[in-house]
Amino acid sequence: MPKIKKEEKKKKPEEGRFQLLRGFRDVLPPEEKFFLLLEKKVSNLAKDYGFGRIRLPILEEAVLFARSVGKDTDIVEKEMFTFVDQNETTVTLRPEATASIARAYIEHGMLNWPQPVKLFYIEPMFRREKPQSGRYRQFYQFGFEFLGTAEPVIDAQLISIANKIFSELNLRESVSIEVNSLGCKNCREEYKQELLNFLKPKKKLLCEDCKKRMQKNPLRVLDCKEPSCQAVLADAPVLLDWLCDECKDHFMKVLEFLDQLEIIYNLNPRLIRGLDYYNKTVFEIWPTEKTGSQTALAGGGRYDSLIETLGGRATPAIGFSGGVERIISLLKQKGIEPRETGQAKVYLAQIGVQAKTKAIKLLEKFHNEGIIVAENLSKDNLKAQLEQANRLKVRYTLILGQKEVLDGTILIREMEGGVQEIVDYEKAVQEIKKKLSKT
Ligand code: AMP
Repeated sequence: MPKIKKEEKKKKPEEGRFQLLRGFRDVLPPEEKFFLLLEKKVSNLAKDYGFGRIRLPILEEAVLFARSVGKDTDIVEKEMFTFVDQNETTVTLRPEATASIARAYIEHGMLNWPQPVKLFYIEPMFRREKPQSGRYRQFYQFGFEFLGTAEPVIDAQLISIANKIFSELNLRESVSIEVNSLGCKNCREEYKQELLNFLKPKKKLLCEDCKKRMQKNPLRVLDCKEPSCQAVLADAPVLLDWLCDECKDHFMKVLEFLDQLEIIYNLNPRLIRGLDYYNKTVFEIWPTEKTGSQTALAGGGRYDSLIETLGGRATPAIGFSGGVERIISLLKQKGIEPRETGQAKVYLAQIGVQAKTKAIKLLEKFHNEGIIVAENLSKDNLKAQLEQANRLKVRYTLILGQKEVLDGTILIREMEGGVQEIVDYEKAVQEIKKKLSKT
């Protein structure tokens, strides 16, 4: 057991209350329906498009992220939950899934599978960011990845899957798809130099972060939100003008496919993405109405060199991930409520100990038949149970009182008209099935 600091040992239990860690949250049942909606949408689409689900471990070797995401990125530099375990291995709670996907591709010899390998995931991620609205330290991402293909049509297909998710959630009108190309190492290096030449004389006008970015990763200056930096960038050279022929041709084809698919996008030359492994096509999905500084709902792009960087054979790939909490927040903002499924149409009320025994057995029978029955076995009072049945808007309430127990019967009350009939206890499931199938 690792050592617990003295103050941690004595602190909270004695105060009698534990609290969530900063930036972490509980998802309570009223919110769960939103998570379920997104999970269903993502899983159904993945199935339709032939993606297989991959479940990845939460812990990975820290060096995996330093080598893939990049050691000078915000994520690796400041935001990883990293610790040394009992075997002296430095491990990290994964901040994103693409690095793990690439590791898994190499580790399981997926290059021998039919290409492209199509994987999807829905997993929690961990980033030690400054908590604020829409920015948590544990959050869920879903993602789609194509591995083993360099074809521009695949870039368009991936963007069309992202487009479909937002359309099917009725959010397409509320978001924009921002698209750009980061080119390859060669054209990007040339552009970086050009950008630096442009920025150097204006360095004192940039924010402190951007001054540092100029040394480590000048492209990141392009997506700085500070108005002073935005002003400097107004006449900055544009990466798209520096693409080599191969990268330009690839990007033009992607845009043509998107046009063919009638997907509306915004060509955004400032879109950079913060991670080192990206090249060529990158895209993000933004809410059209900006609230606060947390804008991106989803993002992704090509990572054609990542698998090779991690020791595998050169394998082009592309993927994107979406932030579940941020999409849920937009759904709520737009007043889009998931339709309740699996709501009980039947309530079982009981009065007395013997009735409880019979009720519990009857519930089992309904469960075996796949019929959802609401109940509250902890209550004895019929009025309270009927009130609950009313609140739940069930169509039928079954009532088991002392008389019914003795007679081997059960009462079925139709809630709307209040009509009641007595049926044989053994036939209760059959009768309800018959009634439910009528409408
Ligand atoms: P990224 O890999 O940083 O582009 O993240 C992909 C998506 O995950 C983003 O577009 C967000 O929707 C979501 N996301 C990233 N960081 C956070 C965070 N700290 N809290 C909640 N959602 C996040």
